Amino acid sequence: MAVTGEPTFRESVDMMFNRAVALMDLSPGLEQKIRVCNSTYTVRFGVRLRGKIETFVGYRSVHSEHMEPVKGGIRFAMNVNQDEVEALAALMTYKCALVEAPFGGSKGGLCIDPRQYEEHELEQITRRFAYELIKRDLINPSQNVPAPDMGTGEREMAWIVDQYSRMNTTDINAKACVTGKPISGGGIQGRVEATGRGVQYALREFFRYPEEKVACGLSGDLDGKTVVVQGLGNVGYHAALFLSTEDGCKVTGVIEHDGGLWDENGIDIAKLRDWMIVHGGVKDYPEATYVANGAVLLESDCDILIPAAMEGVINLSNADRIKAPLIIEAANGPITYGADEILRKKGAVIIPDMYANAGGVTVSYFEWVKNLGHIRFGRIQRRQEESRHQLLINELERLSADKGLGWTLSPDFKQNYLRGAGELELVRSGLDDTMRAAYQSMREIWHGRSDVTDLRVAAYIVSIGRVAASYRSKGL
Ligand code: NAD
Repeated sequence: MAVTGEPTFRESVDMMFNRAVALMDLSPGLEQKIRVCNSTYTVRFGVRLRGKIETFVGYRSVHSEHMEPVKGGIRFAMNVNQDEVEALAALMTYKCALVEAPFGGSKGGLCIDPRQYEEHELEQITRRFAYELIKRDLINPSQNVPAPDMGTGEREMAWIVDQYSRMNTTDINAKACVTGKPISGGGIQGRVEATGRGVQYALREFFRYPEEKVACGLSGDLDGKTVVVQGLGNVGYHAALFLSTEDGCKVTGVIEHDGGLWDENGIDIAKLRDWMIVHGGVKDYPEATYVANGAVLLESDCDILIPAAMEGVINLSNADRIKAPLIIEAANGPITYGADEILRKKGAVIIPDMYANAGGVTVSYFEWVKNLGHIRFGRIQRRQEESRHQLLINELERLSADKGLGWTLSPDFKQNYLRGAGELELVRSGLDDTMRAAYQSMREIWHGRSDVTDLRVAAYIVSIGRVAASYRSKGL
């Protein structure tokens, strides 16, 4: 996707890092230590498929071990390469620091087009890749914990955890070796949609502040805002679904691998997704206008642009034609360094990837803690909470009857108030709190320092500062 004259993805991340450290007071040695990727393991392995041996290339990169385990997804895509995996691992370090998830940064990838394989073949390939990583402790509950990313999901995580358990039969914490698992396999409620949910919470938080709206020239709240989303996969689908069904946004454009769709009146996201599951893409969807060159829709008029597919899609070739005043980077690295500069000059506000898509790692953190605790959140206190609420309601009703006040509590209120929080509510509450707290830390710097003019640099300053503090406390 990168255009001639553009830095690579990793160089782009490094250049963004450099913009931030230029405004910080770090020794050159510490700065370099934080910037570099600690290690990248490349593996080539063979799998016998359809009567012949096929060789696959995979990577697992560890960017920073200032905290362990290190954390980061495993991606299945054809364009996976060392540069990309290292860039993504670096972003994981900064992301975890920003949302205060106690992990270092890591990432993995396998060069494969998953659509070309049957499910049982994918299982064989995934298990073999996992085996190669597990035997080198590159998957391990206390050292390196993957999660889903592009091209992978609950199914692949279930295969990985099973592979780990077979190879570590006495590890009582085996389930914590990977997050994003299905609920039946040790997962947590709310993880599948967590990254998209985080995008929604990030936008809600942004729209709480008048200064933010002035900065991008928008007003009001999310209700009625037009949205264009690129990539209707795990992240893009959930973000678009929640924004349209819960916040009143209108998704006027959707861009997918086989083209784009446009409808001024808003596209029904759930319906479109159902169509995509059957037909494999957006082409021929009857309820919106099809645009063969979907990427041009990135340049359409809308209030909020959500690139949620892949890196480098907004680059030197199209940045000056992007019209959206607010861009939220749901994907990792969708805006190149050069494009970022052009967009900032034009006055667009960019909510950066390391914050915008941190919902996934936040809920992964909860899942990991759940696995280590061997108990579902809410299991112990839920009914006790309900009993205490019932006591209060009984007492209010008794007082009202005794004093002849005639108070009645509405059945709706009673039902909502009485219910103790289950796992899903606790996960959502923890995610919302995390997204708000991380935003606060960025905006304090964005609005509080005259030399900081955008959220990305603010985000880097917060996270690099935290990683640096962690290294210093170790005596480095
Ligand atoms: P996914 O595989 O579920 O979805 C990606 C979608 O993008 C697919 O629908 C695919 O068809 C589409 N796509 C592929 N090429 C495209 C193109 N050229 N133009 C338009 N659409 C295209 O992946 P995902 O998990 O949703 O990840 C998307 C992005 O979000 C990645 O950058 C990933 O690193 C990032 N991310 C994911 C998570 C997570 O929890 N899954 C967390 C943080 C960040």
